[in-house]
Amino acid sequence: MATLVLNAQGEARVKGGHPWVMARDVAKIRGQVHDGDVVAVADRRGGHLGMAIANTRSRILARIYTRDQRPLDRSLLAERLQKAIAYRKDLLGLGPEGGVRWVFSESDGLPGLIVDQYGPCVVLQLLTLAMDQRRQILLEVLDELLSPEIICERSDVPARQAEGLPEVRQVWKGELAGPVEIIESGVHYLVDPLGGQKTGFFLDQRDNRLLLRSVSSGKRVLDAFCYTGGFAVAAAAAGAREVLGIDSSGPALELAQANARRNGVADRCQFVDADVFEKLRELEAAGSRFDLIVLDPPAFAKSRESVKSAYRGYKEINLRSMRLLAPVGVLVTCSCSHHMTEELFQQMLNEAARDCGLRLRLLRKTTQALDHPILLGMPESQYLKCFWVTIAEE
Ligand code: SAH
Repeated sequence: MATLVLNAQGEARVKGGHPWVMARDVAKIRGQVHDGDVVAVADRRGGHLGMAIANTRSRILARIYTRDQRPLDRSLLAERLQKAIAYRKDLLGLGPEGGVRWVFSESDGLPGLIVDQYGPCVVLQLLTLAMDQRRQILLEVLDELLSPEIICERSDVPARQAEGLPEVRQVWKGELAGPVEIIESGVHYLVDPLGGQKTGFFLDQRDNRLLLRSVSSGKRVLDAFCYTGGFAVAAAAAGAREVLGIDSSGPALELAQANARRNGVADRCQFVDADVFEKLRELEAAGSRFDLIVLDPPAFAKSRESVKSAYRGYKEINLRSMRLLAPVGVLVTCSCSHHMTEELFQQMLNEAARDCGLRLRLLRKTTQALDHPILLGMPESQYLKCFWVTIAEE
């Protein structure tokens, strides 16, 4: 087995709890690294730091999965999966009926593995070569642990390219005729695991949907970038007076409409197929006002290089939303891009407010739901930021 001997920078990173080893963190390599295989990671004096999965094609040369000495075999995978599932089930009280992320990659000691479940359907996503090579074991162990009717794979994300892997979209067990249903604290959602975005649903917004419900009664709500209506339908089901959802994806809007019908709130929901940037301008020109506005755009900043233009995009939609906010309204504004840091996001909001001649009060900062735990030593594992703001007095 090859050994990556780290330099001072790499040592500091790994000892600080980060599981990644970048090429620039390595002083020398003993032996031959085979992509997808396990390598040892050592400090400058040769002391053992951990075992990692390697891929020389990726910007991230190796990802540590244990600080111990164990191989990445069936027994380790089964143990990790069992623990990850137990955490969600026993501690969080989550389960397939309401939709759950069973495994969140590095945060569960399984770099590059995502496992979600929606009712009868388990969805697997393999983002690293090492996990891709262990697909068969993972499928078998997941089948043993969860006994789902359906297992499918959604490994069709750009991150796979960085690992030299092709896109995979496949049903491995059972049959998936169409959307499946979950019930999140009483609200029904249809989820399309094969055709939808991510693995079908934004499970990471669960806690924020619940919080939104608590302030929705009687309100006029705008859900911008609504996808299948996660926030919109939650608000309507919690008694919102009127809900407008905007998205540019036809199939997502069809499901949003179906979700509204399924919950008996279609009469109070309207979904429009439009570009949010344009629609916000239009609403502003028409003098519209909303008591609650949710802004949950896709990651505008996909890389460090694109942060500047992303900043402008975020500022534009936030500024417009502030102008649409009723005097005692709440703006729930999110960013799911790790590169848009919390500090930067806060600065952007403050600038947008200043440009509208307003000052904001921060009610709360929230993040991804508890089944997407954040690894403290790995800032990248915290990607979702949501600021709940209101307009301050003159
Ligand atoms: N709020 C959603 C998730 C949003 S994901 C939820 O909680 O389920 C981002 C959504 O933005 C996607 O559905 C995508 O179709 C949509 N989108 C991206 N760019 C857009 C644009 N310029 N105008 C409207 N919708 C857009």
